Amino acid sequence: MRIVVLGAGFGGLELTTRLSEEFGNDLDVVLIDQSDGFVFGFSKLDVMFGRASLSAVRHPYLDIVKPGVRFVQATVLSIDPVTRRVETDAGRFDPDILVVALGADLHPAATPGLVEGGHEFYTVAGALSLRDVLPSFTGGRVVVAVTSTPFKCPPAPSETALLMDEYLTQRGLRDLSSISLVMPMGVPIPPSPEASKALLVTFAERGIDWHPDRLVRELDPGRKVALLADGGEMPFDLLLAVPVHRAPAVVQESGMTVDGWIPVNPLTLETTFPGVYAVGDVTSVGTPKAGVFAEGQAAVVADRVASLVRGDTESAQYDGRGMCYLDFGHEQVARVEVAFLTGQKPTGGFEKPSQALAADKVEFGASRIQRWFGPT
Ligand SMILES: Cc1cc2nc3c(=O)[nH]c(=O)nc-3n(C[C@H](O)[C@H](O)[C@H](O)COP(=O)(O)OP(=O)(O)OC[C@H]3O[C@@H](n4cnc5c(N)ncnc54)[C@H](O)[C@@H]3O)c2cc1C
Repeated sequence: MRIVVLGAGFGGLELTTRLSEEFGNDLDVVLIDQSDGFVFGFSKLDVMFGRASLSAVRHPYLDIVKPGVRFVQATVLSIDPVTRRVETDAGRFDPDILVVALGADLHPAATPGLVEGGHEFYTVAGALSLRDVLPSFTGGRVVVAVTSTPFKCPPAPSETALLMDEYLTQRGLRDLSSISLVMPMGVPIPPSPEASKALLVTFAERGIDWHPDRLVRELDPGRKVALLADGGEMPFDLLLAVPVHRAPAVVQESGMTVDGWIPVNPLTLETTFPGVYAVGDVTSVGTPKAGVFAEGQAAVVADRVASLVRGDTESAQYDGRGMCYLDFGHEQVARVEVAFLTGQKPTGGFEKPSQALAADKVEFGASRIQRWFGPT
């Protein structure tokens, strides 16, 4: 049986690791990605604020040593979900089981004026550009803003505002600056009232202006003003945006999407096409777009594929649970546990910020790199 996994992000790496752990060389698994290396989303914040170099947080796919798994660096050009045929710039693949884990593409140019007058911090290129821009910032009005929904890692804009406060304080520029956070939700982490409260208290303590239920739709670079969806305006000297997210064009062209994303069975991650699964940010499964959820969904697909291979009844089901670290700056990290169980109101527990959780977060990343890249 040949399994082809499109996308070597959180979802694709977890899935192929599990299949390798279970079957080793007895299963033919191909992992395809256009990039040459993996970077955790949260590492982009480290790069942008000069806390880490890109080479320290980039993990080359050439390092993958997984029995049974072959990594192919290629761009996926077309997907036929009916025949499961995949065309890439490195050849054609006709798997028995296809898993689409191609994530969400980011489109800064979809927000008028953003490329000319602002910055985005969600891509590696954006983080690198900000790493070079921030040292020459001499203080002023900083706006951290979301430009559309859905967007990956809902806590990331809050973390960015807090890290910006730390950065400006360290550079002696905080008194010369204001920080505003524009978010499309009523509270920072809707499923966790405790986490939201802790963030709102910290924003107030650190003088970060919180603008709930608002979105930046456009920038006027000439006037240095952000135009909000509700008609309001916000002047800025430095604007850091979460850009528009869309399913990759190749996924949209495949006919698998409905309202922009791939619908899946929330318990099994099956698409409507036999033998085709989808996991992570590219889906509309109902959990936030975050790596921990992509990872949990990949684990379920791995279990179900393993059952198919063994000829067992497929039983693993996705429970919508996930955990997320929240960087408060000053080496203080909190943890939020969230559960999005089908048909129930999402709930979330909260562990308050500490240095111990900052160390846990480092271990979270390191343990994944070891599992995903190292020998089984
Ligand atoms: C600033 C920031 C902070 C974040 N912090 C966290 C956090 O603390 N915790 C957390 O859980 N999540 C976090 N995230 C979110 C997390 O990074 C994503 O949700 C996660 O990576 C999604 O996993 P995925 O497997 O669905 O997609 P991805 O990891 O995005 O992987 C998709 C892969 O598909 C490849 N691809 C796309 N199109 C093609 C094509 N046509 N051909 C070939 N390959 C293609 C891409 O190169 C990519 O490697 C953060 C994100 C950002 C931007």
